[in-house]
Amino acid sequence: MYKIPNLVYANEKGEIFDHPELKMAVRSGPYDFIPYETELIRLPKSSRLYFMPHTHPVAYDENKANMIEFKEGFAVSVFLSPGFLRLFLPAYRKTKDYTMPLFAYTAVGYLDGHFVVLAIQVDNISKWDPANYDFSCNFDKQVDEFIKNAPENRLYNQLRKCATEYHCTAAKNVFYPRWECPIPTSPACNSACVGCISLQASECCPSPQDRISFAPTAEEIAEVAIRHGERAKDPLVSFGQGCEGDPCLAADNIAKAVKIIKRENPNLTVNFNSNCSIPDNVAKVLDAGVDSVRVSLNSVIESTYNAYYRPRTYKFQDVVKSVELIKQAQVFLQLNLLTFPGVNDRASETSALLDFVEEYKVDLIQMRNLNIDAELLLSSLQLKPDEIHGIKNMMKLIKKRHPEIQFGYFNRMKKDFHAHSGFPDLRQPKKGKSHI
Ligand code: SF4
Ligand code: SF4
Repeated sequence: MYKIPNLVYANEKGEIFDHPELKMAVRSGPYDFIPYETELIRLPKSSRLYFMPHTHPVAYDENKANMIEFKEGFAVSVFLSPGFLRLFLPAYRKTKDYTMPLFAYTAVGYLDGHFVVLAIQVDNISKWDPANYDFSCNFDKQVDEFIKNAPENRLYNQLRKCATEYHCTAAKNVFYPRWECPIPTSPACNSACVGCISLQASECCPSPQDRISFAPTAEEIAEVAIRHGERAKDPLVSFGQGCEGDPCLAADNIAKAVKIIKRENPNLTVNFNSNCSIPDNVAKVLDAGVDSVRVSLNSVIESTYNAYYRPRTYKFQDVVKSVELIKQAQVFLQLNLLTFPGVNDRASETSALLDFVEEYKVDLIQMRNLNIDAELLLSSLQLKPDEIHGIKNMMKLIKKRHPEIQFGYFNRMKKDFHAHSGFPDLRQPKKGKSHI
């Protein structure tokens, strides 16, 4: 008999408990469910629990076989370790009308002495485990030391801010120096995403980072990339890592910089992560020699895309045109699929994605948790009711029809573009067994 995990809740001091009788409930889109045993895993190492103010958790009452609102505590969520994709949201009701901060809210329960979540590991986390990063002020000294020996370059000052104030792990890599180096380039964007993490209208939720306020020159960009390529272990450089504007609007400088980088160090992997909204600009960076392009989108259905991205000066068809150019240039094509349970796993979304992957021969889908308040997202999308497959089933359907496709979470060096990481494990556990 399947034991449903206990409800986890918090008191007003933020102390976290498991309930002796009530059971965990989870949410997908607007619907509350009892969790599936086969999707439970132990809370991944380096994940962190936090409580959700102004909420009550929804719980399953086994005696009444009913969902109830538990009014004596607050709902609890988890920051999952990087590389893990959430499968379900916490089930909760808000006690006041407000928009929650831009986090990837994830359901958590308690079973047989362990916290459990519904999530799946989609990539190898060895380089992105938070345990590999120094978040203390000791790291400031390492940054100071690095900057003392670095050339005058405004980008290093920006990256110092990203590494020491925002605690961006990618930016910290610059100063170790090792692995992936992010290069913010664009103060502007031509989308107005509902959950943009670098710019929010003041009446909405606060964005966690401020955008870069200047456009670095091609020479500044190339200098940071070339130094990283010379000094770092397993180096790669990436434009558009998430919380600047969109690098498509800085394509002239980026293309010039990539030509310099490739002349000096042809082996250095260069990724371009972007909304890919301006095909002519995407063509410029392709011509310059980028190795991989990661196209960010929440959906390949135009109406769902428009409702979230709110494109200002382009159309979804421009993104599709860019995808065609990337394929024609035979450059590694990745999607950055902003994933939300109950949205991307709808039957209509899954079917459209299957067709898109087939038509454009997508090489890899980065399954990224979309950080947003569920009510804000769902009210923006205004989706009609549809069958929900579940995120894991959606991935299985894609893998079944396109066995060559890879899933992941992080950018890779080009030597690893086609190497299988072993994740995710989409096999069904044997009957009566779970992944716990
Ligand atoms: S594309 Fe990126 S920078 Fe532009 S609005 Fe969306 S999240 Fe923000
Ligand atoms: S702009 Fe954002 S993603 Fe890029 S280095 Fe700074 S904090 Fe990190």
